[in-house]
Amino acid sequence: MLTSTLCDANRRLTAALQYVKISADAAERLKAPKASLIVAIPVRMDDGSLRIFQGYRVRYDDTRGPTKGGIRFHPDVNLDQVQSLAFWMTFKCAALNLPLGGAKGGITVNPKELSRLELERLSRGYIDAIADFIGADVDIPAPDMYTNAMIMGWMVDQYSIIARRLSPAVITGKPLSLGGSQGRETATARGAFYVLEAMMARSGRLPQHTTVALQGFGNAGSMLARLLFEAGYRVVAVSDSQGGIFLPQGLDIPSIQAFKASSRSLKAVYCEGSVCHLSQAHALISNAELLSLEVDILIPAALENQITADNASQIKARHIFEVANGPITAAADAILDARGIQVFPDILVNAGGVTVSYFEWIQNRNGLYWSIEDVHRRLKTMMVTEADQIWQRAETLKISLRTAAYVHALERLGQALDAKGTREYYTNGI
Ligand code: NAD
Repeated sequence: MLTSTLCDANRRLTAALQYVKISADAAERLKAPKASLIVAIPVRMDDGSLRIFQGYRVRYDDTRGPTKGGIRFHPDVNLDQVQSLAFWMTFKCAALNLPLGGAKGGITVNPKELSRLELERLSRGYIDAIADFIGADVDIPAPDMYTNAMIMGWMVDQYSIIARRLSPAVITGKPLSLGGSQGRETATARGAFYVLEAMMARSGRLPQHTTVALQGFGNAGSMLARLLFEAGYRVVAVSDSQGGIFLPQGLDIPSIQAFKASSRSLKAVYCEGSVCHLSQAHALISNAELLSLEVDILIPAALENQITADNASQIKARHIFEVANGPITAAADAILDARGIQVFPDILVNAGGVTVSYFEWIQNRNGLYWSIEDVHRRLKTMMVTEADQIWQRAETLKISLRTAAYVHALERLGQALDAKGTREYYTNGI
């Protein structure tokens, strides 16, 4: 039985199916996840009480390789959301031609309410609960919202304890000292930056004449803001879960990053400070106001379902780059499309993270580690190559970039699914 966000995600699949020749069997197989695990994680709290947290891990499709996807810690995590995120991972890996399938995991928790030790016990407890479901050749987790390299370090250690052998390739996004890859922390932002720069080169537009508003100042959002700032773009607004700031002449992104980072010492894992606690020289704006600013480029980099049928008509940006997963609903897509707003889809724009995770997995399995220059060069080649092909498909077929990205991924998925299929035995009457 398909649920709401997953149904919405499936509408993109349906839209793409009319432009690509894949068998009915393959299309059917892609409509539902292969396996979904729900676990209860008991955690001994610092006051001695026991709390049970709900966790999930979904492996959507593994036809093209072991499944891959992040782990999210957030109060809104639920099965429908994790299944949808696993669906997007499947298409993202295929769009980038990575030999991987799609997965996702998460725990329903507000991690900011936990002490560092409680967070570590929760992270290790999650791995205890899903250890049989993951593995370097089976399913490889990574960080997502409110998880980071430190948490991945605890998790890979816990898995290695259970497996009774060091198993670095089971989790990516690890600290460098535990087999992480150079460039992983900035990979999502850097991948998005390469796609954005490719679009700019096509349009002949100059960074200094381009305004940007960015929702979500976390790992992906803040690093992309920094790259854009350094390349000369005018980043006029940023926000986080507390609210946003707006300065028409452009924000000084390094000082905002420094402000958020300095508050980190107050609480070991999550920033206590928020961008909206900054100087009064900036106008404070809500997240809703940020989304409707008149800018050249709008970048949602926080949560899914931010632009819906309710607010799509208020968007004034010319281009939207989806760094978050699923920030635009299918209904909103149609409205934006009709209004001529060009959307660069999540499964392409934010694929830099999983691509460098894939590099990390290769390095762990080979025991040979790459330089930062190597990582950047390979990432750029892959992002720009696939972005160009998706762009060309969109122009040839006269379809949106999102549908083109799905067509691009579907072709690869369909070929792999059909290569494994049994249907011909029946249709040939054998
Ligand atoms: P993060 O936890 O580092 O940061 C999330 C940011 O969003 C924080 O600044 C938080 O304050 C902000 N936020 C939360 N709720 C908000 C709201 N209602 N309005 C505005 N801001 C809000 O997470 P991240 O890793 O940067 O991930 C952000 C998005 O990018 C997610 O959708 C994630 O799935 C996607 N993504 C991340 C990666 C990665 O490698 N980090 C890769 C691919 C996709």
